[in-house]
Amino acid sequence: MNLATNLKLERTFGLVVVAAGASRRFGSDKLSVRLAGRTILQRAVGCLRTVFPQAPLVVVVRAGEEQARARELADWAINAMVPGGVHRQDSVRAGVEALHLDDDALVLIHDGARPFVPPEDVRRVVAAAQEGGAAVLAAPVADTVKEVDASGRVVRTHPRERLVRSLTPQVFRVGLLRQAWEKPTVDRWTDEALALESMGLPVTVVPGDPRNLKVTQPEDVTFLRGLYPPTVRVGQGFDVHPLVEGRPLLLGGCPIPHPMGLSGHSDADVVLHAVTDALLGACGGGDIGQHFPPSDPQWAGAASRVFLEFAVGKAREMGLSVANCDVTILAEQPRVAPFRQAMRENLASLLGVLPTAVNIKATTTERLGFVGRGEGVAALAVVLLVGD
Ligand code: MG
Repeated sequence: MNLATNLKLERTFGLVVVAAGASRRFGSDKLSVRLAGRTILQRAVGCLRTVFPQAPLVVVVRAGEEQARARELADWAINAMVPGGVHRQDSVRAGVEALHLDDDALVLIHDGARPFVPPEDVRRVVAAAQEGGAAVLAAPVADTVKEVDASGRVVRTHPRERLVRSLTPQVFRVGLLRQAWEKPTVDRWTDEALALESMGLPVTVVPGDPRNLKVTQPEDVTFLRGLYPPTVRVGQGFDVHPLVEGRPLLLGGCPIPHPMGLSGHSDADVVLHAVTDALLGACGGGDIGQHFPPSDPQWAGAASRVFLEFAVGKAREMGLSVANCDVTILAEQPRVAPFRQAMRENLASLLGVLPTAVNIKATTTERLGFVGRGEGVAALAVVLLVGD
């Protein structure tokens, strides 16, 4: 059944992502931790948007975080950011009511700290709620579950065949939730299913992927990272500058004693320019001339490390870091070998990696072409970026 098309999406179906927790057990803002290039919250929202690209979607956040989360989720077509309440149940209520749905409508509630939900699980739990009015995803319990007393002694062992772990998404008729909110039979609930169960309302359990983990401890992130293929991006760069008299020669940020230097609008460090372009290429970020046009007087005589630092920052914003960088310098003169190690260390520090991740090669062109005639120096660079 294609739910996205079967449901009239306006006022009959909505999505709520609850992201208003304080991450107390995690120790820092867990929702902003990256998994393969995307934050946990982006992935949690993405799991729903993949299945329901058009449905109204509200994200409940901590008060004051609305703007920052809106920026974080700019690619996911969020309809509203709503400040959360004191307890999770208050946050859910605020999110659901912000959708202005009718009592007959279905609402899907998902934890912002659950980044891994297969699309099929999302579809099945919605289908079950369409039938019965209330459905939750749940995973089997693999371990034997024991109940203990205050001193840690076992009171009893529960038969695990009948136990499941309640996950999200959970999907409900809005009217049922409103009944629970108006006349609650328990004070506090950790999931909306509990509020309905305690009123004697049937809740359907839909078997879900056990890897649908709610990130609570830092170890959970380590486990989840293993579920995603690593993000790997490669970029290449090429640059040429003419050799002229009366200019200092800078290669890879190192001053090199030579009667001639490279001419250009900036300090003309052909190596740093090639590496900058390789980085921008790997990020899908255009080229160096776009960001630092030679026509702009503010870059006259600029240190090329500024360009490289900009490109490194761009990669970091995308959650990418340099795995390695390989450079080839084409020059007839001067000999690069004596400066190779200094260039390597300088480039490594600019890229934020160990010198072993940087390689500098040099070659002549056997006296052929403009390089061979000593008219200029060229540089080629390849950079590999990996996601965190
Ligand atoms: Mg250049």
